[in-house]
Amino acid sequence: MTRTIPHLINGTATEGNEGARFADVMNPSLGKAQARVPLASTEEVNEAIRQAAKAQEGWAKLNPQRRIRIIMKWIQLINDNMDELAKLLSLEHGKTFIDAKGDISRGVDVLEFALGAPHQLKGEYSDAVGTGIDTYSMRQPLGVVAGITPFNFPAMIPLWQSGPALAAGNAVIMKPSERDPSVPVRLGELFLEAGGPAGVLNVVHGDKEAVDAILDSEIIQAVGFVGSTGIAQYIYERCAATGKRAQCFGGAKNHMIILPDADLDRAADALVGAAYGSAGERCMAISVAVPVGQKTADTLREKMLERIDKLKVGHSLDPDADYGPVVSADALARIKKLIGEGVDAGAEILVDGRENGATDESFESESLAEGYFIGPTFFDHVTPKMSIYTEEIFGPVLCMMRAESFEEALALPSEHVYGNGVSIFTRNGAAAREFARRVQVGMVGVNVPIPVPIAYHTFGGWKASGFGDLNQHGPDSFRFYTRTKTVTSSWPFDTDDHGGADFAMPLMD
Ligand code: NAD
Repeated sequence: MTRTIPHLINGTATEGNEGARFADVMNPSLGKAQARVPLASTEEVNEAIRQAAKAQEGWAKLNPQRRIRIIMKWIQLINDNMDELAKLLSLEHGKTFIDAKGDISRGVDVLEFALGAPHQLKGEYSDAVGTGIDTYSMRQPLGVVAGITPFNFPAMIPLWQSGPALAAGNAVIMKPSERDPSVPVRLGELFLEAGGPAGVLNVVHGDKEAVDAILDSEIIQAVGFVGSTGIAQYIYERCAATGKRAQCFGGAKNHMIILPDADLDRAADALVGAAYGSAGERCMAISVAVPVGQKTADTLREKMLERIDKLKVGHSLDPDADYGPVVSADALARIKKLIGEGVDAGAEILVDGRENGATDESFESESLAEGYFIGPTFFDHVTPKMSIYTEEIFGPVLCMMRAESFEEALALPSEHVYGNGVSIFTRNGAAAREFARRVQVGMVGVNVPIPVPIAYHTFGGWKASGFGDLNQHGPDSFRFYTRTKTVTSSWPFDTDDHGGADFAMPLMD
């Protein structure tokens, strides 16, 4: 019988109401369904939200230290169960076991940051702003907030959202990707095991119907979304229309600029990992390499070809695989279609992954013939109007574009519609500094290929990669998941003079 991955609502695992719709959860290495997941109806989502609202009242009354002690225990349980979680994640997503551990660990980093909630929630205080008058502010939770997350980081992004939201005293409705939903449920169960009250962290599966129920709810106060740009914009607009705060992070096209003075071996090592790791299904993957000068390009091209030749594509649990399958048959077809468009548009295809599946035919005697594998693909002489450059491919495809100057290289990521991440490889500190200051992209790496900021800084792209003004994790996350109340109080001492009625704006003197 097919395993059903349940919702986790008000502390209880439920498999969906009578007549529920289900989606298959695939093992992308085998191209076979391994479980099914219920897709919540509007009524089920609304019921979960109502339960969350009840639970939130008690959660918000706990002082922050008590809340973070539960999060501290949660961190310990996630670490204790790391191997089980990483295996589950790898089997549903298709990323390698070690990469799956990285997905979970980068999420845990943000839970650790959230342990600083008592400090982050401290307000400001101004003594004696007038005679006997003080002003202070406090940060209060919003109530019930929702997270809507993508398939490509099924542990990290739910933890990035729920850690600060919970630490700040909110209840959370997490709507993870229906393609790899098991780990978010296990994370919710571990939160309960850590002593988290029922109903404070709920995991509700679903598709557009569930998302729309969240967006239309009058109880939900804020929505954190991460996924593709079209949906990000849709959610941002609908949240604005219903008066919710929203932060919506979208797609990406991340460039790596390689200046002639760069250490080209280091740059090539960084590039091969950043372009092909996780089959290119990372929002911070490098998909465009921009060497400056023909000599740099020719040398880099040779170094990349040597490295690409050694890559092994295999079952996600194969310890020798550099990367596994892409997530679905649709994703595979879309990537192949875009590669075809690149060839038709006249880009030079140096390595064509379309005909290459997994390097081995089987793993632990299971056939990989139906798995969603695609070999690394490498294009040279890509130009700005080609769809392989304008669109996010989200697969193991690297485009090389040759720039003649620093200014030309700087203009490419700056003028691209996406603005998530970018990196520059150089030994020239002044060039790196100039680049970092001028480039129109939200996150910049200098001799770092995937510049995902550490948890106590913030993460967020610009332009079509991010809608909303506050970033994920770091201090912004506490700003996003709280609202500020400012109190002005008058306690004059030692005077009976009440001054009488005042009909003009009071002067603070
Ligand atoms: P997606 O947009 O297909 O799905 C994201 C979420 O939206 C899922 O929970 C899904 O169920 C829901 N959804 C899908 N279609 C919907 C619809 N029509 N209406 C309402 N909700 C809908 O994204 P994905 O394929 O899961 O993830 C890959 C995308 O996410 C890539 O574009 C990647 O760049 C992006 N991403 C961005 C960041 C970032 O921080 N900018 C991080 C990770 C991933």
